[in-house]
Amino acid sequence: MPSPIVTRCAPSPTGYLHLGHAYAAGIAFLRAREAGGRFLLRIEDIDLTRCRPEFTDAIFDDMAWLGLTWEQPVRRQSEHFTDYRQAIETLQEQGLLYPCFCTRKQIAAEIAAAGQAPHGFEGAVYPGTCRHLDPAERVDRMAAGEAYALRLDMAAACSRIPGWPLHWHDETAGAQAVTPGLLLDGFGDVVLARKETPASYHLCVTHDDALQGVTLVTRGTDLLPATHLHRLLQALFDWPVPAYAHHRLLTDDSGERLAKRKNAPALRDLRAGGLSPANVWRMAGLNPARIVG
Ligand code: GLU
Repeated sequence: MPSPIVTRCAPSPTGYLHLGHAYAAGIAFLRAREAGGRFLLRIEDIDLTRCRPEFTDAIFDDMAWLGLTWEQPVRRQSEHFTDYRQAIETLQEQGLLYPCFCTRKQIAAEIAAAGQAPHGFEGAVYPGTCRHLDPAERVDRMAAGEAYALRLDMAAACSRIPGWPLHWHDETAGAQAVTPGLLLDGFGDVVLARKETPASYHLCVTHDDALQGVTLVTRGTDLLPATHLHRLLQALFDWPVPAYAHHRLLTDDSGERLAKRKNAPALRDLRAGGLSPANVWRMAGLNPARIVG
């Protein structure tokens, strides 16, 4: 018997949910519901500097108001730092991570001095300054309490993969092939952990989708490039590869993508203004009867 579809909605509690979140949650919910599968809600609150408990409470409240139901218990990433630390240690033991002591300012200066910044999916690609630091210097600086991030040595990580390209599939964009060139140019030596955020979004999301048996990842097209990196992590950890459906992003009247604190009214404001959940689903372009019917 084929295993049931498992989808998830994985918001970060850095603000109140808006229409774009309702759309994303609705898509994940419907895909599970219409296939007789399971729908999970996961709170991605690893960034302790930006996430706030009242936003987590508001997520539960807004999603319940919309008529969504999800499995319990809800995984809150901030309660599972040991899991992510273990994953980080696994990569460390394989010599795939190195400490980077550069500040953002130093990185910007180095890039400016080099004359041109290779532009990756997430901005300028790290020039690799700390990749070849002397091991003794690393130890000294860490022992002296200097702040550092842990970066993935992308070239070394790629050399561990027995066969290229890696493949994944997006329902809309089709078959995707990941090559070392794409990863080196698109991401370079990405940060997988830093002092204030002991594990990065990329690591935690990929870890948890594997751990929770998610079979279909639905999320916005803005995250399609990130999936190439997630595919590498899946290969390094031997995690299963889910199917992906990157969906359109809702925009405002001028075509600009809806964003927290910018142009997107919070769901709770729409609700306070007298709109019903059905009104909100319609505004998001989803048929309310499919959700609550
Ligand atoms: N926490 C991420 C966000 O809110 C989730 C992205 C994903 O679904 O992978 O953007």
